[in-house]
Amino acid sequence: MQMLLTTLGFFALTGFFIWRHLRAGGMPAAGSGASAAGGAGVPCARCGARVPSGSSFCPKCGIPQQVFEVVSAGSSAAPSAGGAGALRALVRGDMCVGCGTCVAACPEPGALTLQGKLAVVDNALCKGHGECVAACPVGAISVNAGTAANRVQVPLVDVNFETNVRGMYIVGELGGRGLIKNAINEGKIAIEHVAKVLPPGAARDDGDAHTLDVVIVGSGPAGLSAGLEAHRRHLSYVVLEQGSLSDTVRKYPRHKLLLAEPVSIPLYGDLWIADASKETLLQVWETIVANTGLDVHTGQKVENIARDGTLFRVQTEKAAYVARRVVLAMGRRGSPRKLGVAGEELDKVFYDIVEMEAFKGRRVIVVGGGDSAVESALGLANQEGTEVILSYRGDALSRVKERNVEKIQRAIANGRVQALFRSQLREIRPDVVVLDVDGEKTILPNDHVFIRIGGDAPYAFLERLGIQIVSKDVPVGGHDVARTG
Ligand SMILES: Cc1cc2nc3c(=O)[nH]c(=O)nc-3n(C[C@H](O)[C@H](O)[C@H](O)COP(=O)(O)OP(=O)(O)OC[C@H]3O[C@@H](n4cnc5c(N)ncnc54)[C@H](O)[C@@H]3O)c2cc1C
Repeated sequence: MQMLLTTLGFFALTGFFIWRHLRAGGMPAAGSGASAAGGAGVPCARCGARVPSGSSFCPKCGIPQQVFEVVSAGSSAAPSAGGAGALRALVRGDMCVGCGTCVAACPEPGALTLQGKLAVVDNALCKGHGECVAACPVGAISVNAGTAANRVQVPLVDVNFETNVRGMYIVGELGGRGLIKNAINEGKIAIEHVAKVLPPGAARDDGDAHTLDVVIVGSGPAGLSAGLEAHRRHLSYVVLEQGSLSDTVRKYPRHKLLLAEPVSIPLYGDLWIADASKETLLQVWETIVANTGLDVHTGQKVENIARDGTLFRVQTEKAAYVARRVVLAMGRRGSPRKLGVAGEELDKVFYDIVEMEAFKGRRVIVVGGGDSAVESALGLANQEGTEVILSYRGDALSRVKERNVEKIQRAIANGRVQALFRSQLREIRPDVVVLDVDGEKTILPNDHVFIRIGGDAPYAFLERLGIQIVSKDVPVGGHDVARTG
């Protein structure tokens, strides 16, 4: 009975969200956010209406102004963020999700600690190494020398998230801002603009009957939000996804809690993701896709996008699409290189590791012979009870940094890592992996597989498309709270 009530509650909540999405049309509910235009405040970055001081939403277009923080920041040509003080890590309180990845990555004991759901820097102990910056999965940390700005490298976009390649948009984490709520907001804003600039259906005389209004690349929170908005506005569209639906979230460690506050922007009402598991969020997405008939094509990696007059030709591994507009919602993790072996699609396979701790006491295999494979094997070997195998097809680790060579040799010598040289992973099954070791078939018990054999960086892909990447100094403060110890 309790199970039935829980299920009914879940579908009622999801149905309510879809109803709000399809009905609301992107405008804020009366009384939400700012109360009225006029008076003291700043102009909305998008529509120019006055946003009263102390308010986070534009009273006219309903957009939370925080979304434009990176867009509005000035480009910088100066070589560094400057500042007179010593280098220190700075954690942004509005973005930190409390996953603790930075704490594990920091080489200075005690310099970064987790206090509740927030990473806090002890300025006296922090040496500004910056390992935390690279480790943070949501881009919430920067290292600077006492300046009031964080230096970031981001694609150039305007307030509609359109790039310098006209007709091509970038939304979500690919644009430089982490967090699910930002991704959802940006996806919707971009499609609102697409709908505004495309002439009404009958007047579109470019392309043919197969020409789509918009191709959306990526089915994370940004791509799904863009897809829903396109669907709601009756645009012809397709969402293309290289992996499975919302692949980044799917690859969070099991039962990861989503620690963001509920998305409170009007269009989404109370899409509840606070303290839910990743499984709950994925279930919500899957239900929305099923109920709306959102057109998502999974297993289709976009490999190239070329201009063809006013249109774009989007090429995936399997098909080609022609579209008037393209929205890139590809996240920032890039496209990992795959082995192409049977079983690679299983949930136990990862291409990066964000929380080593989640693999405590597990039997894991890391595939690869470069620094990322070695560092992953070492990090996993530091977890209590974790059995680590490093599989590499070569005779020796010849492509890794000197400091990693010493560390891995020590870990192999003391039995923390078992190295299998001249080995190739052939098949992944739920409980075992099948390898070819020195020409001999070997079956080993296994809980998780980490494939660390490189990949395509997303910014290199953008540059190939002609999108400009710029350096920006994003002010610390304003809508955000920067916290240090
Ligand atoms: C461990 C971890 C914990 C996190 N915890 C939180 C949290 O608690 N709260 C929170 O708000 N945020 C959290 N985040 C951040 C949040 O997941 C991201 O900010 C959010 O997913 C960004 O959404 P996105 O749609 O921009 O990109 P993504 O979710 O990364 O989606 C991008 C999608 O594009 C696909 N793709 C990429 N390239 C191609 C291509 N060439 N062709 C086709 N498809 C492609 C990818 O497979 C992926 O599915 C966490 C992140 C991690 C890694």
